[in-house]
Amino acid sequence: MLNNIVWLVFDSARYDAFVAARTPSIDRIGPTARRFSYASWTAPSHYAFLMGLPPHANEPRVLAADAHRRELALWQCRIGDELGRAVSFADFVPSLSLPAFLRALGYRAEAYVSLPVLNPHTLIAQHFDKFELMPVYNDLAAIVGRLSFSEQPSFYFVNIGETHYPYALPNENAEDLPRIPGVHGVWRGLDDFLRHPGAAIEGFDSGRFDIERLRPLWQKQVGCIEYLDGVVGDLIAKAPPNTWFIVTADHGELFGEGGYFGHGPFIHPKVFEVFFVEGLNPGAAKADASGSTEQSIIMARLKQLGYI
Ligand SMILES: [Zn+2]
Repeated sequence: MLNNIVWLVFDSARYDAFVAARTPSIDRIGPTARRFSYASWTAPSHYAFLMGLPPHANEPRVLAADAHRRELALWQCRIGDELGRAVSFADFVPSLSLPAFLRALGYRAEAYVSLPVLNPHTLIAQHFDKFELMPVYNDLAAIVGRLSFSEQPSFYFVNIGETHYPYALPNENAEDLPRIPGVHGVWRGLDDFLRHPGAAIEGFDSGRFDIERLRPLWQKQVGCIEYLDGVVGDLIAKAPPNTWFIVTADHGELFGEGGYFGHGPFIHPKVFEVFFVEGLNPGAAKADASGSTEQSIIMARLKQLGYI
């Protein structure tokens, strides 16, 4: 039997925010590696993922072609050894598409995305049986509710928005959170920008982009990661034992380093540095003596930190 594949992308989750967060569920999947994204923003980074290329290890003295070949060959471990043959680069041509590769093996490929830049009308939605943009950008629990497993192996590719600015949990009103004027609505505001390209964005002050002032936003992202870990715990419990998990981020986020905030058209190590965890389903978490589940422990921790 081929393994189910569940690939979870915490959008914009910074490596050091993930390391600082308490993530008991994800920790059970495998050790946290420090990797590097191929791109500094959502669309091209996800495109690389869907070529079968997770964040890279940035190893010196290795040919790029060898690094790619080795990474693609790892799909044999991820899908299981049932096929009894080595996966090679040739299996990915000519489309260079992970969903097309998996569908050719008998998988059903579905994507659930939270960020509109990855909507079903974009090129990135090709080769999936189903590709859905979620109605809200920050509700992994709703996505987990839609995932089901059957005899046919599943490939679920999930883009998660709680860790994206403004780092809002599903029960939080983003309007109540600290905001950076001008960050939202790049496409919505494009017409105004084209009419008045020199106009200043109301309330925008680049002088506020310093690390100390933006630290609360980093801490908020840490809180979102801790919340998401509880939801991942629910998914671990729901998924069959032969499910291979990948949990990573598409890029980091800058919180004042070098005078930058956010991600995208910036070159800075912290925007390329990401966490990477993968492994077979570790099995459902055991309840502790008081009957608490991992999820309730996480919620208690969030309350302690003042996030909820
Ligand atoms: Zn992103």
